[in-house]
Amino acid sequence: MTVYKNKTEKQPVLQVVKDETKGIVETRLYLDTHTGTHVDAPGHVFPGGPGVESIEPADFFTFCRVLDLTGVPEKISRRDLLAHAIQPGDFLLLKTKNSWHENFVFDFVYLSAEAAAYLADLGVCGVGLDALGIERDQPCYPAHRALLAKKILLLEGLRLKDVPAGVYFLIVAPLKLTGVEAAPARVFLLGPGNPTGTNRTSPAGEPSA
Ligand SMILES: [Zn+2]
Repeated sequence: MTVYKNKTEKQPVLQVVKDETKGIVETRLYLDTHTGTHVDAPGHVFPGGPGVESIEPADFFTFCRVLDLTGVPEKISRRDLLAHAIQPGDFLLLKTKNSWHENFVFDFVYLSAEAAAYLADLGVCGVGLDALGIERDQPCYPAHRALLAKKILLLEGLRLKDVPAGVYFLIVAPLKLTGVEAAPARVFLLGPGNPTGTNRTSPAGEPSA
């Protein structure tokens, strides 16, 4: 699978600890919590801060908007977002040209510090990006800090290639870890839905890795 900067240590490892010669098969999984699709918690950038257990389970089930930002060349700016009339309480999945690549792209499109500050001030509920990090090359991780300071849910490593822009019902299913700053997650979209919530059940795709 694609891992951040193609680092070997980020690759999941499956170790068979019991095989059929023991009459039963058991496998051990070694997995970096930031590998694949995952949720970030405030403890990721605020030492000693809350882990994924601090996220209310109810926050994992919500309507969301997939925004088409595939025309953004390098980083998502506040101006790029203004075109989408984002409202307080929105949960946003940002689809960029990152979605066209199966391999790790070192110059992936990311969320600029000013765009993150804008979303944090606006009071969105969550932000997801189709890259293994929401930012790169921004000293001291201002995008993470702006959003996580307000406990805005962060999803990284989304797979949105086959997901058109629109409104969906989002289901996030992270591993239940305690005192840990991130958790691998399956992320599902149901839809296309609409803002009135009358079309919640027709499956349209799964952005999960
Ligand atoms: Zn992360």
